[in-house]
Amino acid sequence: MSLILAPGRESSLRRRHPWIFAGAIARQPQDLAPGAVVDVLDATNAWCARAGVSPASQIRARVWTFDPQERVDAALILHRLEAAVARRRHLPDFEAATAWRYVFAESDGLPGLIVDGYGETIVFQILTAGMEAWRDAVRTALAAVFPQCTILERSDVAVRKKEGLQERVAVIAGQVPGLVAVEEYGIRFWVDVLCGQKTGMYLDQRTNRQAVRRAAAGARVLNCFCYTGGFGLAALAGGATEVTQVESSATALALAQRNAMANGFEGRVRHVEADVFSFLRAQVQAGERYDLIILDPPKFVEAKAALARGCRGYKDINYWAFRLLAPGGQLFTFSCSGLVDAALFQKVVADAALDAGVEASILAFLAQAPDHPVRTSFPEAAYLKGLHLVVTAK
Ligand code: SAH
Repeated sequence: MSLILAPGRESSLRRRHPWIFAGAIARQPQDLAPGAVVDVLDATNAWCARAGVSPASQIRARVWTFDPQERVDAALILHRLEAAVARRRHLPDFEAATAWRYVFAESDGLPGLIVDGYGETIVFQILTAGMEAWRDAVRTALAAVFPQCTILERSDVAVRKKEGLQERVAVIAGQVPGLVAVEEYGIRFWVDVLCGQKTGMYLDQRTNRQAVRRAAAGARVLNCFCYTGGFGLAALAGGATEVTQVESSATALALAQRNAMANGFEGRVRHVEADVFSFLRAQVQAGERYDLIILDPPKFVEAKAALARGCRGYKDINYWAFRLLAPGGQLFTFSCSGLVDAALFQKVVADAALDAGVEASILAFLAQAPDHPVRTSFPEAAYLKGLHLVVTAK
């Protein structure tokens, strides 16, 4: 079975970009089954790639291989999983943490598949019809690469709708404990793999938590959108005198509290259930001051149509954070919206500083941790960006 591209639409594939949009296809077989593996040919019938089809999505197919000799089968999935896990095990700090993203979808040649490991508990997500068709092969490969481990499927993500897939949570092997204990650079976390956000933890911020830890000695810290407390715990481990954790989800906040206790930090931390937008304003009005603020909001921009509105949201929280910072204070500010690129995010933060009447300098440009790698041919994988700033004049 073949997909035939419209003239000129093969150029991104020739650069090894793995997505084929519906609009690039000139002809395709009728009634393509979800996940069917097809050959992709250019308008002159020259072979370009082999891809898995998502009939319901605008991203109509995702490339499995650019090698005409390579077959798409269970052995390929096992091989790619083994290679992805080996790359993580070779990361310089692999021994320093027990929680890792082992597979980051397209970045590891496994489009639509996420695999995170929390000690002996492996959690995977299937995001696309192309991968859903290989679910049995994925399960078998995971059982082979992670023998004796508990394996949990958390395919309960909204993006599956765009692929025409239902949400699914299933225990594949072993028994899932209520909470899983992990460690990151000596800091203990309880992770709710069954009900937590993502697969339980924001692994993408691991390196940035370490950056906060190094900057936090002696600081009064405000951690906004704290989820289960990651940045706050890192600041406390780094010698922060006091941390305020703010979060709107009561369940996440309860786990943040538990995590603080697990590390013996309870004397230096307070937990506030609040909406960050109104909390920041109220703190400015109350004349509060912080030495270090972290802003790690949820994705404000889900689609292009929401770009302007999302940027207003980013500007708003950054503006109030700048106003709350003491002279010499530090801001760690993030955006996980893929549609907001690093240059745009920097501009939004610069506008916020200007409006707040502060002069700030960027000390570091931050990104997702190296277990979320970005293939040079697939820059869309770079979704998390952040800035570490210091207020130089106020
Ligand atoms: N910094 C966290 C991850 C943050 S994810 C970590 O490293 O683990 C974003 C969090 O913001 C989610 O936990 C979500 O529940 C929370 N949230 C979303 N909107 C909010 C709001 N308006 N006020 C406070 N918290 C909010």
